[in-house]
Amino acid sequence: MTAKANIDYNMPEIFANRPWQNQVTISLLSGSPLYQLDMNRRFGHIRKGLSQPELDDFVLESTVQTIQSKKPNLMLVHFTDLDTQRHHYGFSSKQAQAALRRHDNRLGRIIHALKQSGIYENSTIIALGDHSALDESMAIKINVILRRKGLIDVNKRGKITDWKAYCKSCDGSAYLYVKNINDEETKSILQKIIHDLSRDKSNGIEQVLTKKELRTMGADSNAYLMVEALQGYYFTEGLNGDFIDSIITEDVNSKKYTVASHGYSPNKHNYTTVLLASGKGIRSNAIIPSMQLVDEGPTLAKLLGLDLGDTDGKVIQELLEI
Ligand SMILES: [Zn+2]
Repeated sequence: MTAKANIDYNMPEIFANRPWQNQVTISLLSGSPLYQLDMNRRFGHIRKGLSQPELDDFVLESTVQTIQSKKPNLMLVHFTDLDTQRHHYGFSSKQAQAALRRHDNRLGRIIHALKQSGIYENSTIIALGDHSALDESMAIKINVILRRKGLIDVNKRGKITDWKAYCKSCDGSAYLYVKNINDEETKSILQKIIHDLSRDKSNGIEQVLTKKELRTMGADSNAYLMVEALQGYYFTEGLNGDFIDSIITEDVNSKKYTVASHGYSPNKHNYTTVLLASGKGIRSNAIIPSMQLVDEGPTLAKLLGLDLGDTDGKVIQELLEI
C-alpha cells in the first residue's frame, strides 16, 4: 500500500510477485533505500524470509529503532503475526493466542521506546485491525467448473492460455470477471452456472451479488458478479480436481489451504475487528459501540489537525477530546 509513497522513511510491505523481480530490488526500489538497508543491516538477522513471528520481530526492532532515532510525527506499522497464525491454525488456536501475547509485548516495547525518547506524553497510540477472520474447512474452486464449461483454456503444463470468465478469489468472497463485458453468451452461461450452484447450500455459496449490488457495496464494479461464501467455506482459484475440497491437515501443512480466512462480507456475524486508542487527544474511557473501517481515516486525520474532505466515513467525535 505504501510502495513509492511520499514517506520520509518508507519500508513498504511489497512482495516480489513477478518472475523477473526479487525481494531485495523490489523493496529498495519501492521504498527508502538507505533506511531499509540500515534496518536490514541492524536487524536482518532476525528475519526468516516472510515467516512469523520472526517477520514481526524484525518489524518491531525497526519500529523501536526508528522511534529512537527519528522521533517521527506519524508512524504507521503493520504487524501480521496474528493474521498468519489464525490462517494456519484457526481463529482461537493456541498459536493465535500466543501471537496476541507477542503483540502485547510488542506494544509494551513501543511504549517503552516512546518514553525513553521523551515523546510519550505528546504521543497518541492507536492499535487497530483491518479485518477479523472466520474458521473454515472447505475450499470452493469455481474455476474448475468454468474450465469444464470451456470458459477457461489450460495448456498441458496447467497454465491458462485463454479465458472468457474467471473467478478471482478474495477468500471469503470472490469476483467473477468476464473478459469481454459485451460477450452476452459468456455472461448468460456464467449467470446460469452461478445460480445453479447457489441453489444447493452444500456448494458453499451464501449469496450472489449483481454488478449493480456490488457497486453499491463499494466493491470492484469491473466484475460481472460477486459471490459470498457460507461460513465454513472460502474461495480459491484452483483449476484442477473437485469443485469443493474438504481441507485436511496435509493441505494446511503444505500451505495449499488455510483453516481461517477473511475477505467475507462485512455483514457476516461475529466478524468485527478492534480499535484501541490512548494518549494525546483521546477521550479517556470512551467506548464506541460500533464504527466502520472507513471512519478511521477521517477520525485519525482530525487528530492530526487535518481534514480529508469528502470521505465515505465520518469523524468519530466521541473518541476525541478535541
Ligand atoms: Zn490474512
